[in-house]
Amino acid sequence: MSKAFASQADLQEKKVTFTRLSDNAWAYTAEGDPNTGVIVGDDAVMVIDTQATPVMAQDVIRRIREVTDKPIRYVVLSHYHAVRVLGASGYRPEHIIASRDTYDLIVERGEQDKASEIGRFPRLFQAVESVPPGLTWPTITFTGRMSLWLGKLEVQLIQLGRGHTKGDTVAWLPEQKILFSGDLVEFDATPYAGDAYFKDWPHTLDKLAALQANALVPGRGAALTTPAQVAVGLAGTRAFISDLYASVQAGVAAGKNLNAVYKETVATLRPKYGHWVIFDHCMPFDVTRCYDEATQYADPRIWTAERDRQMWEALES
Ligand SMILES: [Zn+2]
Repeated sequence: MSKAFASQADLQEKKVTFTRLSDNAWAYTAEGDPNTGVIVGDDAVMVIDTQATPVMAQDVIRRIREVTDKPIRYVVLSHYHAVRVLGASGYRPEHIIASRDTYDLIVERGEQDKASEIGRFPRLFQAVESVPPGLTWPTITFTGRMSLWLGKLEVQLIQLGRGHTKGDTVAWLPEQKILFSGDLVEFDATPYAGDAYFKDWPHTLDKLAALQANALVPGRGAALTTPAQVAVGLAGTRAFISDLYASVQAGVAAGKNLNAVYKETVATLRPKYGHWVIFDHCMPFDVTRCYDEATQYADPRIWTAERDRQMWEALES
């Protein structure tokens, strides 16, 4: 029997945890489902990654209202993926902030990504009819680095390099050394790398590590609340990306086709990473992108709902 496509068979609800990291920083996590970061400044609240729909955003807002009544003024998009951005309108923010590279990806492939992601993982798009038509558009973009001041609290938004996507942005509280990494770092969850830059990702993780964060909110998985836990999260993500790339490169060097490389790479990685959530969902996309990068495509090809299905059929049947 062939495996159900992507995460269509994943129907089990996850338990939400709202973790306090400091007077200003909170993590909304859900056992490996996409996380949302919350920064409470002197005069306003910033939300980092929105959840997948405006209805799902209401649960984040409910938790925020348990700790502050300050207005939610800013939404930051760590990258362009639909599951991170389509809840934005639920917060009624004054501004939606993203890197220019993320803006460009929304222009180039936002529509295709939206259709593709909803098809892959319907459970993550609760009340998908509440998503307004069209796409989520940033109102402020930046290149490299910018600071926002929530009163006296400085929040830095930084592009440390490519990794999970071309536009990856982290949010950083320099005084408290708290980092919101987006999907550049996962914890006990499989990194999705279908739009990744495998050669760049480890170097970008070096730059994250150099910040020496005391706490880190990953894209998926529990908040990492000590420097030792942060190191474990960074090392795990790096090992997965490096192991996958090494396996694919070896297969390509031996002249093997994608199907053979896929089966070998899954067998090689499963003992170490197979218990991480969404392993079976991610591997076909991750290996396909890695094979592309190791052969002829410097940049990720656009995933469409149709290409998703064709790839799955080719690798899993
Ligand atoms: Zn993502």
